[in-house]
Amino acid sequence: MKYFSTRGGNATLTFEEAVLTGLAPNGGLYIPEHIPTLPGNWKEDWKEYSFVELSVAVLSLYISPDELSPDELRTLVEKSYSTFRHPDIAPATKISDKLFILELFHGPTFAFKDVALQLLGNLFEFFLKRRNALKAPGETQEKLTVVGATSGDTGSAAIYGLRNKANISIFILHPKGRVSPIQEAQMTTVTDANVHNLAVKGTFDDCQDIVKALFADQAFNAKHRLGAVNSINWARILAQTVYYFLAYFHVRRQVPAGAELQFVVPTGNFGDILAGYYAKRMGLPMGRLAVATNANDILARFWRSGRYEKAASAPAEGAAGPVEGASDGKQAVGGVRETLSPAMDILVSSNFERLLWYLAYESAGGSRAAAGATVNGWMGRMKSDGRVEVPVDVLEAARRDFVAERISDEQTLETIRSFFDVQPSYVADPHTAVGLAAARLIAPQNDPATVQVVLSTAHPAKFSEAVTRALSASPSFDFERDVLPVEFQGLLDREKRVIDVEEPSEELVKRVIEDVVGAGTSHEGSANGSV
Ligand SMILES: *Cc1c(COP(=O)(O)O)cnc(C)c1O
Repeated sequence: MKYFSTRGGNATLTFEEAVLTGLAPNGGLYIPEHIPTLPGNWKEDWKEYSFVELSVAVLSLYISPDELSPDELRTLVEKSYSTFRHPDIAPATKISDKLFILELFHGPTFAFKDVALQLLGNLFEFFLKRRNALKAPGETQEKLTVVGATSGDTGSAAIYGLRNKANISIFILHPKGRVSPIQEAQMTTVTDANVHNLAVKGTFDDCQDIVKALFADQAFNAKHRLGAVNSINWARILAQTVYYFLAYFHVRRQVPAGAELQFVVPTGNFGDILAGYYAKRMGLPMGRLAVATNANDILARFWRSGRYEKAASAPAEGAAGPVEGASDGKQAVGGVRETLSPAMDILVSSNFERLLWYLAYESAGGSRAAAGATVNGWMGRMKSDGRVEVPVDVLEAARRDFVAERISDEQTLETIRSFFDVQPSYVADPHTAVGLAAARLIAPQNDPATVQVVLSTAHPAKFSEAVTRALSASPSFDFERDVLPVEFQGLLDREKRVIDVEEPSEELVKRVIEDVVGAGTSHEGSANGSV
């Protein structure tokens, strides 16, 4: 299986090259040259498979055996998911006959990104080791320096994915003092020598600007081979397809034979739900995929209008409650709204480009060249005008596979309360609550036999502020008893490693990276310093 860019060109890459490259040089995203179909007997053969067995079965359809043999793949997958706390990896919890919650937060950092990043870290390590083993003695070894910025919730998943990996260093910048104490501790208590937390005196935007500047500095980039682990990496999408299959088998066992499943996915960069689209296209039976956004609703607006447009033109009707725009709808730089579900606070959804390619391909009658040119044009207009409108046949095609809803902060809080107040009582994190709220709005449009499966993307303890705000009035609610996992107890008191960066300066961050990476394999000097 080869991969090519959504923006056209003749280059085709192996899986390994696509994974190590991330973003295509022409700005596009890598997609497989065809979507594989499932083996004829998959329903019987796979029905008792564990998460690991399903991973091997599904992933091997996208990776040539001469790149990764089934045994190598199995070893990598087993290692990746041995860090999860639940035997099913992604258990489906039954809420009612019509509703299940697929819990994706049983990995090391209690959020869904672990599913993909645990595997990505092992793939990086495997490919680099294999390349380096082929080098002549004395030849420079290939290394990777991963740099990223976080507002708190996603940095830890990257750190846990790459901790202790050979030939890889990771530098994560966070705004000092502006990250919740639990999230800060999740990152800084990782003391592996290759992990470097930089607490930057400044804002998240400052951190992001510094990271962008480092990637734009070609000399620095080439010298250190900077890498990103952002959600456009193909391996992340691929790893995420597996839980759709697992959920299909686990939920089917508990519902009437004729029931159709509908997956409802809280969405930011469109990565989680895109994996569901691939599963659907491979032949996994399901109803329309449901996109659930917060107030950053570029996707919900697309499905309403066919316009993919950066800035919100007007508040969505009926969605914006009094909480938004007043205490919550803080309009931050660049038009991103701060919400109670911060991991979905985005202006554009980077992985949406992959779906656009498939829509353009269909519209172009199956011409790959025409699809690439069309997507390239759309993305160019997005960059210059901040908006693009797709033809009506493209919108109609998108509506055949998806529905979309936008959920306000007020609806999010109300949903957390309503799922706590019933039996069985369930404490949902705010991202999951966006999915649950959207499921409720969409249900009346479905066939009555439909069973909804809402993807739960974070453990509620990770977003304690919103959960506590929603439930503090409930006399029966006790955060420590109902929510706090044992793993978080004592976390704040553990040994920490963090480098203070005294001003938001690209030069200071470069100095830290040079000092650490330049020092070779010994990273002793990097602990708890400041620059
Ligand atoms: C990243 C993230 C999401 C959004 O996932 P996408 O793949 O960007 O759509 C939702 N919830 C949580 C908790 C996340 O960390």
